[in-house]
Amino acid sequence: MADVQMTIPPVDPKADYLAHKEEIDAAVRRVMERGQYILGEEVGLFESEFSGYIGAGFGIGVGSGTEALHVALMACGMGDGDEVITVSHTAVATVAAIEMCNAVPVFVDIDQNSYTIDPEHIEMAVSKKTRAIVPVHLYGHPADMASVTDIAKRHGLRVIEDCAQSHGASYRGHMTGSLGDIAAFSFYPTKNLGALGDGGMVVTGDPALAEKVRLLRQYGWRQRYISEIQGINSRLDEIQAAVLRVKLRYLDEAIQRRRVLAGIYDKAFAGSGVVCPKAASDSEHAYHLYVIRISGRDGLRDFLRKQGIGTLIHYPVPVHDQPAYRGRIKCSGDMRNTEKAAGEIVSLPMYPGLSSASVQKVADAVLEWSRRSGS
Ligand SMILES: *Cc1c(COP(=O)(O)O)cnc(C)c1O
Repeated sequence: MADVQMTIPPVDPKADYLAHKEEIDAAVRRVMERGQYILGEEVGLFESEFSGYIGAGFGIGVGSGTEALHVALMACGMGDGDEVITVSHTAVATVAAIEMCNAVPVFVDIDQNSYTIDPEHIEMAVSKKTRAIVPVHLYGHPADMASVTDIAKRHGLRVIEDCAQSHGASYRGHMTGSLGDIAAFSFYPTKNLGALGDGGMVVTGDPALAEKVRLLRQYGWRQRYISEIQGINSRLDEIQAAVLRVKLRYLDEAIQRRRVLAGIYDKAFAGSGVVCPKAASDSEHAYHLYVIRISGRDGLRDFLRKQGIGTLIHYPVPVHDQPAYRGRIKCSGDMRNTEKAAGEIVSLPMYPGLSSASVQKVADAVLEWSRRSGS
């Protein structure tokens, strides 16, 4: 990476800060001067504003997306030996969170178009020990939730949505995060709604689950210093909540911008050998990432890097093939689409601060490489 200056980086969280600098600086200063830094006014307001945005009744701010998944799984009762069906084509966080509650991840393959869990494989993965499904709305595209919730209902399973990449995505007119029993969001700086540090939220329409998560995030306390249940410490802090409240006001605009940029890429790649992301007819893609497929992708990445264009791979090695997990996690059925995707995907630059001209420049460079390499 060191040889060429990246003129078009793959992500740019600082641009997102600078776009709203004055409001964010004022919000941070307000918290610093108020003097309440943990679980105060900002967190409470952001919890209701964000859960309102999603269209779910309750929001509970936590320390990160991984911890949001962890406490959501705990609230659903996941523990020793309980099997949780999910995908291997995801951020390792999804799997780490399942193992954090001593539950057992079971992987199924993805659908090759949406990159999300393939419902056809879920049924076969259900065993006597299965307790939950974690669909991941990867890249900002909703999983096939009608099928997921139908299977869950038939087998009495909980559905915990991993929405770390899907703020603003919707399915059949409803936001992701309002489609299962409970959902986990991340506010990692590069996500669709990003803090200036770590943060996360659990969202649910179920008051009993919300209550449980509220206790779990702070030692099981309802009343200070009295633990009713065994909990952990995972709190969203006041400064991050204040920053996120500002950014939430611009979230729809930011998602719209992502959709416009995706449209420019789509148009440029139409009729070429570049495989574009396709939104299902019942889904609104939030384009957290714009992921193409192309053969010889490592060559493409080098070619782009030499022109100052940065790309990323989400993700290069499926979780079941990573050293910490290899040979240890049950894969139900084959992982054909997962393994094929891992070798062909490239995430092109995508963030609201990116100019249309830059997107056109990236697209032109991809097409030029594609012509030259004959792919
Ligand atoms: C980012 C991410 C997480 C974890 O979020 P953190 O806030 O980084 O802990 C979980 N799942 C997916 C799919 C993610 O992309």
